[in-house]
Amino acid sequence: MAVHPQPVQAPERVLSTLNADGSRRWIRPRPSPGSWWTRRRALAYVLMFVFFVIPYLKMADKPLILLDLPRREFTLFGTTFLPTDTLLFMLLFVSMAILVFLITAIYGRVWCGWGCPQTVYMEYLFRPIEQALEGGFRGSLRMDKAGGLAPVRLLKHAIYLVLAMFLAHTFLAYFVGIDQLVRWVQSSPKEHPVAFMVMAGTTLAIFIDFSWFREQTCLVACPYGRLQTVLFDRDSLIVIYDPARGEPRAKGTVDRPEGLGDCIDCGMCSRTCPTGIDIREGLQMECVHCTQCIDACDEIMTNIGKPTGLIRYGSKSELDGKKRRFLRTRVMLYPIALLISLGLFLWNLENRASTEVTLLRSLGTPYQMREDGTVVNQVRLKFSNRNRDERGYHISLAGTPDVQLISPINPFPVTGGHTLTTTVFLVSSAASFENGQRSVMFHVSEGRGFDRTYLYRLPGPDDRERRMLEGEEHGEHEGAPDAPKPGSGH
Ligand code: SF4
Ligand code: SF4
Repeated sequence: MAVHPQPVQAPERVLSTLNADGSRRWIRPRPSPGSWWTRRRALAYVLMFVFFVIPYLKMADKPLILLDLPRREFTLFGTTFLPTDTLLFMLLFVSMAILVFLITAIYGRVWCGWGCPQTVYMEYLFRPIEQALEGGFRGSLRMDKAGGLAPVRLLKHAIYLVLAMFLAHTFLAYFVGIDQLVRWVQSSPKEHPVAFMVMAGTTLAIFIDFSWFREQTCLVACPYGRLQTVLFDRDSLIVIYDPARGEPRAKGTVDRPEGLGDCIDCGMCSRTCPTGIDIREGLQMECVHCTQCIDACDEIMTNIGKPTGLIRYGSKSELDGKKRRFLRTRVMLYPIALLISLGLFLWNLENRASTEVTLLRSLGTPYQMREDGTVVNQVRLKFSNRNRDERGYHISLAGTPDVQLISPINPFPVTGGHTLTTTVFLVSSAASFENGQRSVMFHVSEGRGFDRTYLYRLPGPDDRERRMLEGEEHGEHEGAPDAPKPGSGH
């Protein structure tokens, strides 16, 4: 007779969304439409509107936000950052990180509860659709118990898929621009297979996230949630349950004996929690500070004639009976660090050159020897034109009349706010190289103020190769047999 192993039970709670046997505990939170919920909903709709409308907005004739990854050009609020702006971008990134640290130190996980797309779209777009179709949170719980896939859940998933597709297209518009996106939408996917695959993959990721993964994103996937412990301090704003007032808890509202706390153990705070925790157990990593338990408990307190605020915004200091301090070391140091990094960012932004030229070696052979004893070098010139309009860059050589410059396009045109690369060829005699190199000065000008020279060292034949070449030439005069050509193929 087959022996079925007993499921292993966890000795204690591992995650709020896991049953003791390791299976998923689906969270179907009861809505608590109180004053915090109303405020969060208003902000959520504003944020959704902003997200949808940004790809259509322009500033200084440029998209408001465009993250052109293939070209590595990022346009933010009318300013384009080119691949050569690494320092600027790093300073911007550092400033944003410090700002997040500062906001978290003061207001705790306000981003998670109020601004994160995961919370905003889950609680104010996907969850309301689910509850409307499935008969509220109780209907969803009944369907969970019944198992199987009810037709109404199929309909819900179909709607989710359409929404996911819309969100994925909007998301893509931030990377390719709205005009390109519209062209792609109007043409066959065969004409843009890579973009189509990216869009399909993003749609699938969004669909899986909001239909299945849900709060797991906050609990197990998001690194920000795990960073909290180092970003918080005892005075950071958090959602707290006041045990001094609530305990000892006891069920019932009638004939409550003296000495009991205000918590009537109704469980509404945990039934409304989108991450399935009980705030009365203290500060937990799973708490995204969404304030739903505040609204749920305030409603109960109002109904039983007690003051609201048993669960409220507060701090660990308040729980210890101390006053919450606003000014403390980290709250003073973060703004100083932010000022320094933002100041450096703005100074660099203001003082960066209107054009940046980078000289690069050719991708293949560093130089080629020709039959006539001359050496050909390929040099790539990368132009970053930060002006708004197109500029034509004239390339020439300064002080080296023995070197011939061959430039297929000269002046080289570069549209405003873009980076383009051209290749030029330099022909010089092998005898002009010493120890395998020689110097040239590139002169780049564009007639409207930009005029610079750049030193560049050309690789070429070293003394041994030159002697071999001269010997070969000599040998040829003497009628000697062919020798291999030095230099080419390096
Ligand atoms: S909602 Fe308030 S009263 Fe009800 S269990 Fe939670 S803390 Fe206690
Ligand atoms: S404990 Fe309260 S604030 Fe925290 S996630 Fe749950 S409902 Fe939101």
